[in-house]
Amino acid sequence: MDSDILVSHARTATIMQGATGYLTIDLAALGRNYRKLLSMLTPVRAGAVVKADAYGLGAERVARTLYAQGCRHFFVAQFIEAVRLRPALAQDAQIFVLNGLQPGNEIACAEMGVVPVLNSLAQWRQWSAAARALKRCLPAVLQFDTGMSRLGFPSEERAELAAALRDGGNVEILFIMSHLASADETDGEQNGEQLAEMACIAEEFPGFDISFANSGGVFLGDAYHGVLARPGIALYGGAPNAGTENPMEPVVSLDVAVVQTRAVPEGTKVGYGGAHVTHRETRLATIAAGYADGLPRSLSGRGAVYFKGIRLPIVGRVSMDSITVDVSALPEGALTLGSLVEVLGAHQTLEHIARDADTISYEILTGLGDRYHRQYRYLTKS
Ligand SMILES: *Cc1c(COP(=O)(O)O)cnc(C)c1O
Repeated sequence: MDSDILVSHARTATIMQGATGYLTIDLAALGRNYRKLLSMLTPVRAGAVVKADAYGLGAERVARTLYAQGCRHFFVAQFIEAVRLRPALAQDAQIFVLNGLQPGNEIACAEMGVVPVLNSLAQWRQWSAAARALKRCLPAVLQFDTGMSRLGFPSEERAELAAALRDGGNVEILFIMSHLASADETDGEQNGEQLAEMACIAEEFPGFDISFANSGGVFLGDAYHGVLARPGIALYGGAPNAGTENPMEPVVSLDVAVVQTRAVPEGTKVGYGGAHVTHRETRLATIAAGYADGLPRSLSGRGAVYFKGIRLPIVGRVSMDSITVDVSALPEGALTLGSLVEVLGAHQTLEHIARDADTISYEILTGLGDRYHRQYRYLTKS
C-alpha cells in the first residue's frame, strides 16, 4: 500500500520533473535508525558519519535530521566536506575531518571552527603552529592506527606524541579514536586484536575519552563502545554486520522508469557485445538507469529488478544509461512506457544488489547517481 502511494506520487513527478528515476530517502527511518543505535549504546553517545554526502543521500538533510535527534558530532572525510556542511548546522554541532588536514588549510579550518582528526606528528605540528599563529588554543582529535595501516599515528610515533602533549602545544584534545578494520565480522579475530591495542594506547594516553566503534562496532558489545560511536552505514539502512539479519530499517528506495518494451524471438542478441542471446521467445524492457547512475557494470547478466514482487533478471550488459531486463515472467502488457520498476525497495535491499554486483552496500549507496529525482520523506509511519 505504502509503496503504491509512492509509485503514484512518483508517476506525477515523471511529468513534472522530467526524471526517469526516483530515489526516495526516508528521513524518518533515518531518525529511527539513529535512535535504535542510541538505545544500544546508552549512556554512550552516537555521532554520525556523513562523509561522501552522507553516503550519497545528501549530507545537509541527513545531518539536520540527525541534529534534530540530538546528534552533535558529525564526521566527514575531507575538509571540503566540512566547508560545505558547516553553514547547514548550528554552532553547537561539531564537524570532524577524518582524513586530517592538508598543509595550507589550517587557518581556514580554525576560523570555521572545524575540528581536524590529527593522524601524524606532521599534522600535529601543523595544527600546533596554526594555534600559535592565531594565539589561541585549537581543538583536535587524535587518531591512532590499531591495525589498518591506513590513517592514524603509527605506534612508533606514540612516544614523541606523548612528549609533545606534555608540552601542550596550544592544542586541546577532545578525544582519541581508532577505526576497526573488520567490525562487520562479528567473530573476526582482528576486532579483539585492535581492542587490545586500543587498551594499550589508553594506558599510554590516560585521561582521554575514546571513540572506537563504527556501525559494526556498535554490535560488537560494550567493550567496543568508548564514549562516542561513529556509525555510518547502519544509519542509512545498510547491514552493520555480515551474515546476520539486518536490524536496521531501510532508508533508500529507488524506482526507475521503463523506456522501451519489445518482444524478440529465440536467438536474438541483447545489448553491447551481443553478450546475451535469447534462448526462447522473450519479452524485454529497457529501463532508464545504467552504470552512470550507479548500477555497476558488474550487474551485467547477474542482477535483477522487481515489479510487484516479481524478479526481472538483467540480461546482457549494463549500459551507461540503461539496462535491459527479461520481463517474460510478467503478464503481457504489464509494463508499458513510463511504468516504474523497483531497483531498491521492499524486494531488493542494498545488500542484494551489492552481492550481485560483487561489491559492498557502501559502494552501491555512494554511487547512486544524480540523474534521479530525489524525494525526501519526512513523515513518520502511522
Ligand atoms: C567511514 C568511517 C566510519 C563509519 O563506518 P561505517 O562502517 O559506515 O559505520 C567510522 N569511522 C571512520 C574513521 C570511518 O572512516
